[in-house]
Amino acid sequence: MIEILSPAEVDRARTSGALVARILQNLKGRCDVGTNLLDIDRWANEMIADAGAQSCYVDYAPSFGRGPFGHHICTAVNDAVLHGKPHDFVLADGDLVTLDLAVSLGGIAADAAVSFIVGQARPAESVAMIETTERALLAGIAVAHPGARIGDISHAIGAVLRAAGYAINTEFGGHGIGSEMHQDPAIPNTGRPGRGYQLRPGLLLALEPWVMSDTDQLVTDADGWTLRSATGCRTAHSEHTIAITSDGAEILTMPS
Ligand code: MG
Repeated sequence: MIEILSPAEVDRARTSGALVARILQNLKGRCDVGTNLLDIDRWANEMIADAGAQSCYVDYAPSFGRGPFGHHICTAVNDAVLHGKPHDFVLADGDLVTLDLAVSLGGIAADAAVSFIVGQARPAESVAMIETTERALLAGIAVAHPGARIGDISHAIGAVLRAAGYAINTEFGGHGIGSEMHQDPAIPNTGRPGRGYQLRPGLLLALEPWVMSDTDQLVTDADGWTLRSATGCRTAHSEHTIAITSDGAEILTMPS
């Protein structure tokens, strides 16, 4: 089922989105050489609780993960790209980190992810890969307006990723969001323009381009959750929750 939110619900989504953006921005600022992934998880838990919000992750137990996730944020480092389960790991200079966070507040969920590099090192390939996923995300948002279709978004995202030389994995992509974190419609990171569900005001979408530098194949970590590149190469991921409005799209998880 595809959920269309009322104007009052979209207002609540703005509050959820602003909280996700604020927590991610805060955590990004605290990530440094020497930071342990378990500390990031603890800080996320504290900020979610302080805001009176609920984690969408703690009890999450989909078919593609092993049991409830049990943590409050996804932390993916270097070759880890999606569903990164926080564990006892200390960040080093030049590590590429992705934080992915979804919370529910007032009954409406918001979901966003950001990739960045820790410390002083600036590995050129990693920087370029992060910038590509950010550009792909903005390209998808730019074509999201009433009357456009899901395929238009998928096509716009895929065109940016492909032009930069990345192969695209379609096992995981963007999704509808609202009263649940993951809802229809699915939004693959490549597709044909003019196809799929037609966007309308009140539709909430999480767009999330992600890439791996030299493969489109994933492997699952021994933890049963974390998805890593099959070759051990680095990865990047950018995500925003957007609301389709009467004349375009509003980014709900934009850092202030
Ligand atoms: Mg998502």
